[in-house]
Amino acid sequence: MSVIYLDNNATTCVAPEVYEAMSPYFTQYYGNPSSMHRFGGQVARGLRQSREAIAALIHAEANEIIFTSCGTEGDNAAIRAALDRQPDKRHIITTAVEHPAILKPLQRLEKQGYSVTYLGVDGKGQLKLEELRRAIRDDTALISVMAANNETGTIFPIERIGHLAKERGVLFHVDAVQAAGKIPLDVSSGVIDFLVLSGHKFHGPKGIGVLYVRRGVRFRPFLAGGHQERGRRGGTENVPGIIGLGTAAELTLKSFDEDHTRIAQLRDRLEQGILSQISDTQRNGHPGLRLPNTANIGFKYVEGEAILLSLDREGVCASSGSACTSGSLQPSHVLRAMGLPYTLLHGSIRFSLSRYTTAAEIEQVIALLPSMINRLRELSPFSRDNEATHPWLQEQSQRVGIA
Ligand code: PLP
Repeated sequence: MSVIYLDNNATTCVAPEVYEAMSPYFTQYYGNPSSMHRFGGQVARGLRQSREAIAALIHAEANEIIFTSCGTEGDNAAIRAALDRQPDKRHIITTAVEHPAILKPLQRLEKQGYSVTYLGVDGKGQLKLEELRRAIRDDTALISVMAANNETGTIFPIERIGHLAKERGVLFHVDAVQAAGKIPLDVSSGVIDFLVLSGHKFHGPKGIGVLYVRRGVRFRPFLAGGHQERGRRGGTENVPGIIGLGTAAELTLKSFDEDHTRIAQLRDRLEQGILSQISDTQRNGHPGLRLPNTANIGFKYVEGEAILLSLDREGVCASSGSACTSGSLQPSHVLRAMGLPYTLLHGSIRFSLSRYTTAAEIEQVIALLPSMINRLRELSPFSRDNEATHPWLQEQSQRVGIA
């Protein structure tokens, strides 16, 4: 059975051009880029080109780019670096809808005595800048806000947040893992101090990421060791990964406008096909300020897990931020922060497209969903008629803290 892959916010396929560019670096150009000999020099040249390609993607300078092993490493390293250089400041501001790569290290820091403000979002998943402004304190060391949300695709106004941070002399870190390759990223105004990317989210390989550190920001290496990355990240470089990442960045820039328009049209068609044919559905997230590739749809009165399994049986890969993907029974912290009712919290599915998604695939999904959802709803104990009165639903809503 052929697969319709609509889970590109989880990971993307490696572009054929990326694979081709990486390939010789496993068997032919396998020298260590730090070596003095010609063989190493050849590899070092490849790394330099990739660094320049990544810098061009975000309008940075090549020496502001540090290669890491993944987005999670970059996020952890940025947080650590920001705090290490300001030991007297013990307050951090972030949002309630960040990825665990931010939330988990911050929770750990809270246990060590740091204070963290988690800004809430509205029903569309958007931040209130006034709340952020009010949250800044004299001892705020860092503001960490994602560029775009992985579950809903909602885009945060990072440039404006950066200006707020700069006015108050606070360091600003942006997790741009989901934004890279999907919306333009530009650090050249100088208001972003740290920015993180991950190769596997935009058709690069897994196991390679980027940490941008603005020139002039003091940075203590997260991984202390050799002199690689100009002493900012020890460890022999993942050369094929870096080459693949650079190629992925070049490809992104080459077809950015075309991809953006086409993917957004397909995403809109998918949403329209679902929302117009299936009752009690809604789009989760911001209607305008969002990634072009992400559709998060709430199907009331159906378990998301059941939808995912049924889709999987038809060869369609999608995901949900709740029990099904995380392995926990907790509903998505993002949808919860948006105040969604229980029946939507548990019945929301994320479809995420890529440059390789076709119109025929989208039509196939639109065609199979209505009968699938009807079938599942027939098995569900919940419906529009008993939503307000069902005792179990009331109890669960209270348990997860929603009205
Ligand atoms: N930040 C965001 C917003 C993400 O979506 C992800 C991965 O899904 C990460 C960070 C972590 O990236 P990586 O898998 O490269 O560690």
